[in-house]
Amino acid sequence: MTELHTLTIAEARALLDSGEITSEALTESCFERIAAVENQVRAFLDITEELALEQARQADLERQSGGARSALHGIPLAIKDVISTKGVTTTCGSKMLENYVPPFDATAMARLNAAGAVMLGKLNCDEFAMGSSTENSAFFATHNPWDTARVPGGSSGGSAAAVAAMEALGALGSDTGGSVRQPAALCGVTGLKPTYGRVSRYGLVAFGSSLDQIGPLAWTARDCAIILGAIAGHDPLDATSAPEPVPDYLAALDGNLAGLRIGVPREYFVEGMQPGVEATVRAAIAALKDQGAQIVEISLPHTRYALPVYYIIAPAEASANLARFDGVRYGVQSEGDDYWQTLANTRGQNFGPEVRRRIMLGTYALSAGYYDAYYKRAQQVRTLIRRDFQQAFAEVDLIAAPTAPSVAFKIGEHNDDPLAMYLEDVCTLPASIAGVPGLVVPCGFSEHMPVGLQLIGRPFDEATLLRAGDAFQHATDWHKRRPAL
Ligand code: GLN
Repeated sequence: MTELHTLTIAEARALLDSGEITSEALTESCFERIAAVENQVRAFLDITEELALEQARQADLERQSGGARSALHGIPLAIKDVISTKGVTTTCGSKMLENYVPPFDATAMARLNAAGAVMLGKLNCDEFAMGSSTENSAFFATHNPWDTARVPGGSSGGSAAAVAAMEALGALGSDTGGSVRQPAALCGVTGLKPTYGRVSRYGLVAFGSSLDQIGPLAWTARDCAIILGAIAGHDPLDATSAPEPVPDYLAALDGNLAGLRIGVPREYFVEGMQPGVEATVRAAIAALKDQGAQIVEISLPHTRYALPVYYIIAPAEASANLARFDGVRYGVQSEGDDYWQTLANTRGQNFGPEVRRRIMLGTYALSAGYYDAYYKRAQQVRTLIRRDFQQAFAEVDLIAAPTAPSVAFKIGEHNDDPLAMYLEDVCTLPASIAGVPGLVVPCGFSEHMPVGLQLIGRPFDEATLLRAGDAFQHATDWHKRRPAL
């Protein structure tokens, strides 16, 4: 038998259902893999082995008596450390929350538990999800399993690396401006940012509240469909979660692209994009055409404003959200002579440089006298970007584009250049600003590193995205390539 940790979720599910394997054996296989490669990859901030094996044995017992609860019953997954887990430390990659143990589960986590999934541990990320390389983690950098001298992308770099390294069969990440999609692309796995409102944000530690979404990462679109089906849907605990019914995502995967109209936005092939990345993405688009999709060139004219708009709105929201970390209610407290000194020391010493930069940018953009010039202006342009997509989706069913302008860069390469890091997000930010869903599927290699094709869909039409990604994976085998490690 193949080593169990190399299975996709759908493959493992079939073997669990037929009784050929147990969840305990599958989970143990993941821990053996973690023991073998984790010192090179460093995807995990916390490994909850005892809890996971207990959950796995419980899942096996239940399966024998009452059957499986869901397609995720007994499947080992790992969770980005910005998602609250009851009784398990949730640090957000920050010293500020080094000691924080949530007394409750995020709704997405609770739903995975209810589905019978097994949790292997918590995954590294950029501090409070701010970054594109996972180097902003206060604890350590995560390494790209395809080349450990390179970054895995970010901020969900631990999530993408854990899947790519075959330490977990799937993972949850979060995406505010690209944090599921860019690391998925850089690590050669599949990742989905759902429509804003599709998945509850309750218990996701807030970064940019009008942008944040939890999303799955796994090897295939099919596996992402399974995870999305478990976590999606309205939640009374999140007023921004949408009442739209959750379709049967697996039923939508008919392997067929015929008749789909796919738009290719000319603005996404930005200046400075690596030629190898552009060529790989264009070849993937040609493959979609060979499968019967109709490809049309389109324009999303306000694309170039997405980056400046995002880097006003996201820091503005972050500056408000992160005000709660005062060292009084929870998290770390640094000493000071009085309240104000304690507050200043706590925030000055326990937030890293990128988080402090965002708080300052955001506070400035919201301050009296500048609010109209920056924040309000950015919101107005946000409407224009959203309209670009509305107009495009009157003509096409999907949009196909690159995910990032380059393959994974070297650890340390962008260290003293925040702007170069921000440019990583040019292709993922517009969909975040418009709130529309984006799926990334591996589509080839450049410089021996994976490249991801980004598919963008209509609001709440994840089914069409997943259908297209799955059909692409019927015709290609990029999602079957595994790093040597
Ligand atoms: N890289 C972007 C940023 O630094 C996006 C991060 C995210 O999606 N969480 O803000």
